[in-house]
Amino acid sequence: MRKARQRDRERCYLCGGPGRIVDHVIPVAEGGSWDLTNLMCICDPCHHTKSRTEAARGRARHL
Ligand SMILES: [Zn+2]
Repeated sequence: MRKARQRDRERCYLCGGPGRIVDHVIPVAEGGSWDLTNLMCICDPCHHTKSRTEAARGRARHL
C-alpha cells in the first residue's frame, strides 16, 4: 500500500489533489488484484464518489 502512495507521490490519481487513501482501480469484488498496477492513491472526495458509483453498480447487479 505504501508503495502505491510513493509511486503516485501521494497525489490523487483522479483529481491530482493530495491523496491519502490507497484504493483499487478495479475493485476486488469485481475481480481486481492486489497488485501495484491495480492500486491507486486517491483523496477523500474522490473516494466517496468512487465508492458511491461502485455501490450503485453492485446494487444494479442484484436487480
Ligand atoms: Zn481526488
